[in-house]
Amino acid sequence: MKGRLLNKMKSLYILIITLFIFITSLYAETDVYFNKKFNRGDVVTVLIPDNDELYKLELISSTGKFITGNIFFPVDSINFKGQAALIGLDSTLKAGNYTLLIKNSMGDIENTGEILVRENVFKKENIPLNQANTSLRIDPDSKIVSEAVQIHQIYGTSTFLSVSGLESIKLPVPNGIITSWYGDRRTFLYSDGSSAGAIHNGTDIAAPFGTKITAGYRGRVVFSGRRIITGNSIVIEYLPGVYGVFFHLNEFFISKGDIVVEDTVIGSLGSSGLATGPHLHWELRVGGVPVNPDPLLKNGLIDNSLIMSIVSSHTAE
Ligand SMILES: [Zn+2]
Repeated sequence: MKGRLLNKMKSLYILIITLFIFITSLYAETDVYFNKKFNRGDVVTVLIPDNDELYKLELISSTGKFITGNIFFPVDSINFKGQAALIGLDSTLKAGNYTLLIKNSMGDIENTGEILVRENVFKKENIPLNQANTSLRIDPDSKIVSEAVQIHQIYGTSTFLSVSGLESIKLPVPNGIITSWYGDRRTFLYSDGSSAGAIHNGTDIAAPFGTKITAGYRGRVVFSGRRIITGNSIVIEYLPGVYGVFFHLNEFFISKGDIVVEDTVIGSLGSSGLATGPHLHWELRVGGVPVNPDPLLKNGLIDNSLIMSIVSSHTAE
């Protein structure tokens, strides 16, 4: 008698589990691929192997505060077909857990994910400035403020684009010497004896005056002109909301609206604007956030190691 009841309960239990699996499969979430652990300054790549509907990506803190976001764009390459979105983790971001939200065009959440941001350490450097450069930093100038507003508007824009190839990204001055790194915590030592802290958002590459500068990646020139602090400056949109930024040039060889490829010579190296010697300041912005280019120079702008991990997990099945 006891055995029969137990058997009945067992089959009821199996029926409930089967029903549960069946129902949840009807509401299966979109497959989403991303890495789980990052350093501050890294780019988070999220891949979805279908593009019936293009989604939006958001990063929120553990208390639900919006941190950053970007649009997904279609990718049609040999190893990956679907959609991708890139967001940047600022070098000042608090270490800890963050949530990725994948939203549809109606703003509804289609899927979520958790990532961990680790507390990595950045270099410290002192930069003595002469009187002219000190005055550029400390004298109030409304034109400097309006130029900053204008360039941040550009960084915050994501132009829709479909991507077919997954090219590598290259240093725009391959034979230069890197003199300052992304995320460096700087102290400017002013000519009047005072000082101020700043964070270096790009990579400084020193090379002889006039050295050719290449685009580093395919894209469209969205800004080309002279700015007070950054001198002759170029901004290229590499991918939706992903920008290559070039400061302190001597000459321009391109203009706004031009389409460039990785090897296009866009200008020559100089020391225009606030510079202590001839060098290129090369910066990468993702969804407005300055990011560390070093991991991207190894893995590609759209994370090739993540794509290959999806390929190998599917061939293993
Ligand atoms: Zn710099």
